[in-house]
Parts: sequence; structure tokens; C-alpha cells
Amino acid sequence: MIKNERLKDYKYSFLNIAGHEKAVHFLKNLALNDRIPAGFLFYGPEGIGKRSVAFSFAAEMLCKDLNLGLEREGNSPSGPCGECPACRGILNGTNSNFIFIEPKDDSIRIEKIHELNSYMSLTPFYDNYRFVIIDNASKMNASAANALLKMLEEPPERSVFILITTSMGSILPTIISRCQVLEFKPLSEDLLAKYACDRFKDVDKRTLDVYSRLSRGSCSTLEKLVTGNYLEYRNDITELFSNGLFYSGSLSYGYIMSEKFNRIMKNSEDDPQGTEKFLFETLLLILRDIFVYFMTKNEKLLYNIDISGKIKEIIKNAGLNGNMIMQMIELTAAYINKINYNLNRTIATDGYFVRLLKDISAK
Ligand SMILES: [Zn+2]
Repeated sequence: MIKNERLKDYKYSFLNIAGHEKAVHFLKNLALNDRIPAGFLFYGPEGIGKRSVAFSFAAEMLCKDLNLGLEREGNSPSGPCGECPACRGILNGTNSNFIFIEPKDDSIRIEKIHELNSYMSLTPFYDNYRFVIIDNASKMNASAANALLKMLEEPPERSVFILITTSMGSILPTIISRCQVLEFKPLSEDLLAKYACDRFKDVDKRTLDVYSRLSRGSCSTLEKLVTGNYLEYRNDITELFSNGLFYSGSLSYGYIMSEKFNRIMKNSEDDPQGTEKFLFETLLLILRDIFVYFMTKNEKLLYNIDISGKIKEIIKNAGLNGNMIMQMIELTAAYINKINYNLNRTIATDGYFVRLLKDISAK
């Protein structure tokens, strides 16, 4: 029993993967039959667990108690031990049979692939598999992709390349043809809610249900929302927005909104640009809900379902119509796209909120 408690702490194991049963089952079978192809391409939306599955697959294969986690007949699965040098080496980057590559300055350059190539020409340690995981593989430039293709065409013995991407369109078709392609889909809300309950035992269930819905199928979004205290920010910005619409007759109220907005921002000066983007994206999601409710009158379709009453109140009190809501959505989306180029945040948010009220009062 003690052993199982300890195993839970080691993150990379098929036992810890939420959802993706088909992919996990498929990989387990390949491993059991010792028929692991040299190339894989994992694709699907951001933040749903592609990398965790890839890391777990490597851990399952590289743990010194080889295949410990795989369900052989009469064997109950227990996952990688989490303690041997192989397991620890995956965590801290010292496992010589485990190579992880991700973009630097938004690209994976040919030098990196050349480096990989010379490394892979050495014999693997302990006669084991060697895993190369390339995250955001679409960030390889053309020459890097071609160099990788050469390796996939004549893969070194017992090497396994796992390419991870959100868009198949940006991967060379010749690379795709060399890979076993696995599609990953967003997790269902129920599954995320269950994962959330297991993961955050000290947060109440009602709150976690809201977070699960807001995460739109992504485990990593869920983690960010819970640990970033999202609901508090969301409630602040919703309040600010609904008050603003109430006073929309007076454009100068836009400056007050802007000031209040920057006060909410003050709480997190360590990453102002990130926080600003986060707050505006939150506002965009609220506007999306306002639009959906306005069109359908169906609150089951809302992301921010816990504040459906507030959303109805905003539509009613501000006398919003479809055009006005669309205008606010466009204004907000355009603002988010420009956030990285703002030289002065106060001037930029002043402009945004005044314009927002102007659009509303133009009816
Ligand atoms: Zn181990």
C-alpha cells in the first residue's frame, strides 16, 4: 500500500493520465508486443495531455523495472517506479535515453537536429529504447524538418521519435507518412471535473465544476485557473463591466472603468502583460456568453454558468442587442491582439473603455 502512495507522486505514468484511453491502450499494446514504431505524431488542441502521454510512455518503457506498468496477464499495473535513475532522469533531464526538444525563441533550428543526429548515432545506453520527444514540432524550420525526415527514414535502432503538434497542416507530409499518427481530443467536462476533484482536494466541488467547464477540455488550463484564483478576477471584471454599462450614458465613465481595471491589475505586477491579456480574455468569454444567451436563451450553453443570473441581468439592464454585443466582442478581440504592442497601458485601457461605452450609447 505504501508503494502505491509513493507512485502517485511520480507524475509520468499511464495511471495518471486523465482520459485518452484509446491512445494509451494503443501504446500499451505496442509495448507489450515489443513492436514500437520509430515515429509517432501526436496531434490535438493545446493543453489536453499530449505531452503527458508521451512522457508517460517513455517512463513506462525506460523504468529499470522494465514494463512494470504494463498489464501482462495476472499482473496488476503499477506504473513506473518513480525512484530509479531512469525515472528520476526523465524528471531532471539526466536520463541519457530520453531527449526532450522544444522551440527556443519560437523555433526549432537545424543545429538542434544536427546535434540530435550525432547523439543518436551512438549506441543507446543499457540496450534500451531511446525516446526523442519534440514538442511543438511545427516550429521546426524547413531545413530542420528535412534533417529530421532523414532520421525518420533510417531511424537508429530502438529509437522512438514522438512529435507533438496542435496543427497537422504545418508538418511536412513526408514526415507524417513516416509516423504513426494519434489524434488527441479535448477531455469531456465530466472527466475534467473528476480529474479536478482528485487533483485539488482542498477546493470545493461547486467551484471545481465551474472551473472544469471554463477549461474547455484542457487539463493545463484547469490547473492555471485553479492556481491563479481565476474566479476572483472574473467576478471583479464582471462587476466592473456591468457597472460600466449601467453608466454608459456618460462617456467619461470610461476613464473610471479604466482606472478600476488598472486597480484590479495592481494585484499582479509580476507579469502585467500576461495578467492584462488574461483579464481581457476573461471579459471576452463573458461577452461570448452574453451573446449566446441573447441568441438562444439557453443557459446550459454558457461557460460561466455559475453567474448566469448576472449575465441575464446585464443584457436586461443595459438593453443590449445583438449588434451591440458583436461590436463589443470585436473591440475586445482586437484589443487582445494588440496588447503586446501597447506602450502605455493606462492610455490603451482608457481608449478601450471609452470606446466600449461609445459603442453602447450609440444604440
Ligand atoms: Zn523507475
